Amino acid sequence: MLWRGTTYGEPFLTGRSMIMAGDGTQKFVAYPIETGGRALINWIAERPLDGEAPDRGNWNRPADLAEIGRHFADWRFDWLDVPGVIAGAEAAYEYPMVDRDPLPRWTFDGVTLLGDAAHAMYPIGSNGASQAIIDARVLAHSLARGDLAAYEVLRRPATTALQLSNREMGPEVVMKLAHERAPGGFNDIEQVIPYAERAGIAAAYKRTAGFAPASLNERPSWNATR
Ligand SMILES: Cc1cc2nc3c(=O)[nH]c(=O)nc-3n(C[C@H](O)[C@H](O)[C@H](O)COP(=O)(O)OP(=O)(O)OC[C@H]3O[C@@H](n4cnc5c(N)ncnc54)[C@H](O)[C@@H]3O)c2cc1C
Repeated sequence: MLWRGTTYGEPFLTGRSMIMAGDGTQKFVAYPIETGGRALINWIAERPLDGEAPDRGNWNRPADLAEIGRHFADWRFDWLDVPGVIAGAEAAYEYPMVDRDPLPRWTFDGVTLLGDAAHAMYPIGSNGASQAIIDARVLAHSLARGDLAAYEVLRRPATTALQLSNREMGPEVVMKLAHERAPGGFNDIEQVIPYAERAGIAAAYKRTAGFAPASLNERPSWNATR
């Protein structure tokens, strides 16, 4: 389950920082969406639920702040009081963490799928809408060249890889690794996950997602004659 909310509070760290804290099971993400004076902090708290499966398609249920806060009661850092942020929320909602299995086919005659209809994925790596935008780029180019089939050939394997990667936490797997390798905590992250390994995980995910800056910056724009 993800719980998402917004809370007015004191700016933390640089005042423009985004933080992600957690391990392979439980996670808290926070970043300001309004700065200057008090910060409006957008936050996401995540953990598996015991017991009954939630109503999977329902993304409009108000969250029980006290219940979420209980799961994060001892997450008080020098720079952010997580239970305080949760308790002070203006509004918070429940978002079941659901995806779909990759589909074997998207295109049927002149009809094809795009976006979540084609590849609903776990909300990892800020990807759902981003991938729909990439779909639109490739689909427009394929249609302009009269080659609809090319769209699925390019996009379905790419989004399938991403759906599967997101089930393994995508780039956020570094939090799980740190927890597994140093369950009692650490002073120097280099001793736990060296920079090269962290950078390698981030770079691999960017390649899978099509976000690698070098390839985005260097590739030519498309037009219908290419
Ligand atoms: C809480 C949350 C946070 C997210 N954060 C991010 C993020 O940070 N970055 C990111 O990239 N993605 C994020 N996503 C995912 C992103 O929102 C989706 O991947 C994206 O909206 C998919 O776009 P879409 O157009 O394919 O589908 P949708 O946005 O679902 O659009 C489908 C539309 O079709 C309409 N519709 C359905 N049936 C019919 C019908 N029969 N007739 C007419 N209209 C119909 C629906 O009402 C809807 O408006 C997030 C999602 C959630 C829920």
